[in-house]
Amino acid sequence: MSYQKKERMTSITTAADLHSSGGLSRSFILRRREEEGFNELPTTKPRRLHHIVMGVFKEPMVYLLLGCGTIYFIVGDHQEASMLLGFLFLIIGIEVFQERKAERALDALKDLSSPRALVLREGTKQRIPGREVVRDDIIFVNEGDRVPADALVFSKDLIAVDESLLTGESVPVEKTSESMIYAGTTLVRGQAMAIVTAIGLHTEIGQIGKSIQSENRERTRLEIHTQQLVGRIAWIVGGICIIVFLVFSITRHDWLQGFLVGLTLAMAILPNELPAVLTIFLALGAWRISQRRVLTRRLPAVENLGSTTVLCVDKTGTLTLNQMKIQRIFSNNQSLDLSELSKPYLPEDFHEVLEYGILASRQDPFDPMEIAFINAGVQYLRGTEHLHYDWKFEKEYPLSPKLLAITHAWKPRPGGGYVVGAKGAPEAIIDLCHLNKDQTLAATKSAETMAAAGFRVLGVAKSIFPQTSLPPIQHDFDFTFLGLIGIADPIRPEVPQAIAECHSAGIRVVMITGDHPATASSIAQKIGLPSPDKVVTGQDLESYSADDLCRVVKSVNVFSRVSPTQKLKLVEAFKANGEIVSMTGDGVNDAPALRSAHIGIAMGGRGTDVARESAALVLLDDDFGSIVEAVKMGRRVYANIKSALVYLFAVHLPITGMSIIPVVFKLPLVLLPAHIALLHLIIEPASSIAFEIEPGSKDLMNLPPRDPKEPLFDRKLWIPSLIKGASVLISLTIVYLIALWRGQGEEDARALVFTTLLISNIALIFTSRRSHKTLKERFFVGDNTVVRWIAIGSIVLLACILYIDQLRQLFRFSILHPLDLVLCFVVGFISVTWTEMFRGLAKRKA
Ligand code: ATP
Repeated sequence: MSYQKKERMTSITTAADLHSSGGLSRSFILRRREEEGFNELPTTKPRRLHHIVMGVFKEPMVYLLLGCGTIYFIVGDHQEASMLLGFLFLIIGIEVFQERKAERALDALKDLSSPRALVLREGTKQRIPGREVVRDDIIFVNEGDRVPADALVFSKDLIAVDESLLTGESVPVEKTSESMIYAGTTLVRGQAMAIVTAIGLHTEIGQIGKSIQSENRERTRLEIHTQQLVGRIAWIVGGICIIVFLVFSITRHDWLQGFLVGLTLAMAILPNELPAVLTIFLALGAWRISQRRVLTRRLPAVENLGSTTVLCVDKTGTLTLNQMKIQRIFSNNQSLDLSELSKPYLPEDFHEVLEYGILASRQDPFDPMEIAFINAGVQYLRGTEHLHYDWKFEKEYPLSPKLLAITHAWKPRPGGGYVVGAKGAPEAIIDLCHLNKDQTLAATKSAETMAAAGFRVLGVAKSIFPQTSLPPIQHDFDFTFLGLIGIADPIRPEVPQAIAECHSAGIRVVMITGDHPATASSIAQKIGLPSPDKVVTGQDLESYSADDLCRVVKSVNVFSRVSPTQKLKLVEAFKANGEIVSMTGDGVNDAPALRSAHIGIAMGGRGTDVARESAALVLLDDDFGSIVEAVKMGRRVYANIKSALVYLFAVHLPITGMSIIPVVFKLPLVLLPAHIALLHLIIEPASSIAFEIEPGSKDLMNLPPRDPKEPLFDRKLWIPSLIKGASVLISLTIVYLIALWRGQGEEDARALVFTTLLISNIALIFTSRRSHKTLKERFFVGDNTVVRWIAIGSIVLLACILYIDQLRQLFRFSILHPLDLVLCFVVGFISVTWTEMFRGLAKRKA
């Protein structure tokens, strides 16, 4: 025996010992972790602080401020120059803070969605983050899982592993006991128990120096469009600024001052907060959705959620609790309801069907359906000769889409033949047993009656196989039909309500299940899906042309006996009809459908890593209610982005106007760079924080889904935004002209205009909130305390710059008479609110 082989044998013995003693202990794990660290590879570095700061330096605002500061410096106005420098630091500080906030929210999600591992520790199976695995941990890897660390397999089943990440070879490699499985590879068939031999950098993948690439952050459609919009606006702004620069310089013969005016105008117009608003809203939106137990793997999902029109969901585990219990048994032409038994005594006639059902299940099962069999065995067959803990398991014939049945072959004693148990979909078992026409009719009828009561129905069969070597396929056994088992899986209590909510939100819910049509129909009826009797099966799907399918999916809400590949066909048919599809899935074969859907949703609890990696969202608790919550949150994020945009466009209009009007009419300048920088300090957090935390309006789920092609900034938004902005601009111009006309002087006029502008800015923030309907409600702060702080902060700031001498001089204001101050407050407030009052009145009349 080679040295390596001998070493492996020792490890296998250690693994078996560790497995039977319940895995590693807590103290051992802690010691190991201290010695060897976490199971992680260097990933692409997260963005560090200096990267974020460098990113901020790409913002035009920074250069505009620097430009203005330099001009002040050249003309010898050092105080003004240093004030602008101070503003520059403050603005950079705010940007960095916001970027970090967004980045942190995304990092937290990344940690949660990183691969997880199922380990045996202190006697229990636990799901832990992959990075916490230590050497010598006993791990369980299931079909579709990514192997968390290098490990030696000690279970006997044949498995297939996709090692392409490591070797580039795309054909799966078959393995069994004593084989190594490597970190980063994926199990594509079977289940394995293994003992970890190396972690982190010591694994094969770590040795070849490959880093698991963290996925690049995807830009959403909104972000791309906004970036393009800002780019386009930048050109227009550039043009206007050059014209204003020329007009000023030529009419007033001061080129340096003209340049300063041009730069100030650019600062006033550029909506540079827009990209920041989107990043923050989407990242924090993803974080908020995670609070509802739904992880966002791809950011565009947050944006798309609000436009979902069809929600395709699995039945088991999503609509039901996946807590299975055997409740009905049909055997020897008799039916028995276990819940009606007064004591746990099962009549003899029903023993064999349960016995063979258990033989067709794993001894240490993972699948809740098989757990139900084992539990029923313990409850009803304990002490009888129908439980066979001492038999040797020899081979499993797995379930396939072509034959929905599982067969297990056992050896009661060494040397003899095999005892074989099979269980599966009734039609598959009937097929395996070659029943005649009458028998088939009778069995099918009984299965349908059971299924119509909402049970998941399995047929059970047995075979005695005397030969010494097992045949290759299930059909080679000579099976005898034993009966049917009805398994209850309660509907999640919140599902009917969540479905009703979807319907009122204009979202169709479609059930796609692998289960029996009658079971599917019965559950559909209980949860309130429209036309639950209209069920299309996988077999029907195969016979339809693409056009037929597109027609069928318009009205059918229940699809049964559907295989994962057919799920992809369904997604495509829905998409061809112009629907925005969200689709759930958990298995390896669901990956293509999850990728094709607009929003693929993987099950975090029972879902495989492969499904998770193909999905945009991961449901942590597999609960349908959470999907609906996520949709609601997606709609809220979108509505808040719109509110922020209404505000931003409205507030930029008066600032821009007050920068241009004095130049065109050769009047004293009102807004200088310092004023605009100060306004930015208020506008930026107001647009990104105050609107982000705004709770969604109550009728979010009473509105139809948003058309994804609908422009972000449509007429319904820009017209009110324009009216409000123009109204503020007109009011400011009137205040300014009256002040000049009364001969109050430049500084007095500037103070009056700036105060009025600041008050209208507060009014704009309050009135742009869309979650509140009436004007009174909009001024009621409610949960959103940020708006209150922005209002208070703005007023305190105003008081400081108006009444602290040095500051007042810096900002070139004069002291305002209290009566003037009251006037500014009233004008500022009314300039915004009249439009809302007017709208309210118009609505009431209509
Ligand atoms: P859903 O798609 O809603 O999760 P499902 O769990 O019934 O429904 P599948 O897992 O694809 O879907 O199963 C399809 C059918 O295959 C089941 O209805 C059952 O008849 C059969 N089946 C599934 N698992 C087993 C098993 N462990 N043993 C025997 N038969 C099984």
